[in-house]
Amino acid sequence: MSRFDENFRDSIATVDKDGKRSWVFAKKVTGKYFKRREIFSYLLLIVLFVGPYIRVFGEPLLMLNVVKRKFVIFGQIFWPEDSYLFAIGMIAFVVLIIVFTVVFGRLFCGWACPQTIFMEMIFRRIEFWIDGDWNQQKKLDKMPWKGVKLRKRLFKWTIYWIISFLIANTFLAYIIGSEELLAIITSPPAEHIGGLIAIIIFTTVFFAVFTWFREQVCIAVCPYGRLQGVLLDENSVLVAYDYKRGEGRAKFKKGEDRKAAGKGDCIDCGQCVHVCPTGIDIRNGTQLECVNCTACMDACDFMMDKVGLEKGLIRYDSEKSIKTGVDFSLSGRAKAYIVVMFLIMGLLVTLLFTRTDLEATVLRVPNTTYQKIDSVTYSNLYNVTLINKTGNTLNVNMAIVGENATLETIGGEMVKLESGKQLHKEILVKMKKQDLSGPKTPIKIGVYNGEELIEQVTVNFSGPGF
Ligand code: SF4
Ligand code: SF4
Repeated sequence: MSRFDENFRDSIATVDKDGKRSWVFAKKVTGKYFKRREIFSYLLLIVLFVGPYIRVFGEPLLMLNVVKRKFVIFGQIFWPEDSYLFAIGMIAFVVLIIVFTVVFGRLFCGWACPQTIFMEMIFRRIEFWIDGDWNQQKKLDKMPWKGVKLRKRLFKWTIYWIISFLIANTFLAYIIGSEELLAIITSPPAEHIGGLIAIIIFTTVFFAVFTWFREQVCIAVCPYGRLQGVLLDENSVLVAYDYKRGEGRAKFKKGEDRKAAGKGDCIDCGQCVHVCPTGIDIRNGTQLECVNCTACMDACDFMMDKVGLEKGLIRYDSEKSIKTGVDFSLSGRAKAYIVVMFLIMGLLVTLLFTRTDLEATVLRVPNTTYQKIDSVTYSNLYNVTLINKTGNTLNVNMAIVGENATLETIGGEMVKLESGKQLHKEILVKMKKQDLSGPKTPIKIGVYNGEELIEQVTVNFSGPGF
C-alpha cells in the first residue's frame, strides 16, 4: 500500500480535466543547486557550440556524418567497416545509462540533458527577462492579443527563433562537419536548397519544442523518461521529499512548537510546486514527470531557512533511506550492472586500441590451390582488400615481410588509396621448393605506406607438402 492516495497518477499536471493543455508557469528559482547547475550547464553549452570547430589530430572532435557514413569521435575516424565497434559502443552506452539510472536516478535529466539545459537555462531565462516572473506571465497570458502582449510575444519569439536557428546549425555541424556548414553559409542559398530546407525544418522543430511543447518532451516523448519505471528502485538516489519528517504538513505559525503540536516540517507553502517546470507536487512521491531539476530542493531549502527549520526536507536521497533512516548503499542489482558495464567497457577499449589505421584482408582466390611454375617454384594467387581508415590518402604497396617468398601485385605496385576508400587487388606470391615447410607454409604480407610498414597479415601458402 502506498503512503498516499495514488489518484494523482491517473492524470498529468499539464492536462486539465477536459484534456486541454494546462500551461506551466514555473516560478523563478535560485539557490545552491540552481547556481551549480547554471555553471555546469553553461560549460556544457560552450562545449556544444564550440565542439564542431575543435580539431583533434586534424579531425573534428565529434562528427556523425550519416550521409557520407563517416563518424569521427575524439579525432578518430570510424567507417561502416567499424560497425562492430559501434554496436559494442552502443551496448556499453546503454549499460552505462542503466547503471547510472539505477544508482543515480534521473541525475542526467536535471544536469546534462540538452532539453533541460536549453529550456531552463536559455529559453526560460529569456522568458523571465521579457515576460517577468510566473505571476506576471499569468497576467500577460490572459491579456488580449494586442499592445503589450503582442509586442512581447513577437520580441520573445524572434529571439527564440534566432536561438533555434543557432542550435539547428550547431547540430548540422555535428552531422556534416563545420567546413561544409561554413561552405553552405557562405555560398548562395540556391546552391544548397536541400540544406536550407533542412535547416528551416530543424529550426522550426526546435522553436516549436521550446516555445510550446516544452515539458511535454520529458513527460510524453522522451524514451529515457519512459524507462524510469523499470530502472528505478527504492535504492536509487532521486530528488525526494522526506515524508517522515515533513508529514503532518501544516501552515507555519510564528513561535509555535511544531513537534509539540504534532506537526511535520512541511509548512505547506506550495513553493516546491510553484517552481516545478513539469507542474508536479514532489510531496506525492517519485513521479515519472520529475526530471530531477532540483528546483524544488532550492525552493524548499529557502523556505526552511526562512522559518528556521533544517534544510533538506526535499533532497537527493533514496526512497529506502528515507523510509529506514539508513544511509544510501549500492544494491546488489546495481553492483551486478557495474560489473557488466566494466566488462563491456574493457572489451570496447581493447578493440579501440587494437584497431589499425588500415584494414587488410588477404584470402586465396576461391577454388585455387597452388600452381607449379617450374621444377622448384610454386605460386599462390590471393585476393586482397584494403580499407583506408585514416583521414589521409595513403600510397599503398605490398611486399613479403621476410625472405621466404616474393610478391607481385597484379596491375601495378604503388596505388593511391583515398581516405575511407576500399581497394581490391590480386597478388601473386611465389615460393621456392626449399622454403616450403609442408602443405601450408605461413607467410607474412606487409602493407606499406611508402616505406612505412602500416599493417601485416599472416596467411598460409599452399604447396604440395613434400
Ligand atoms: S519535482 Fe522538483 S526536481 Fe522534479 S521536476 Fe519538479 S521541481 Fe524539478
Ligand atoms: S517547499 Fe517544502 S515546506 Fe513548502 S510545501 Fe514544499 S515541501 Fe513543504
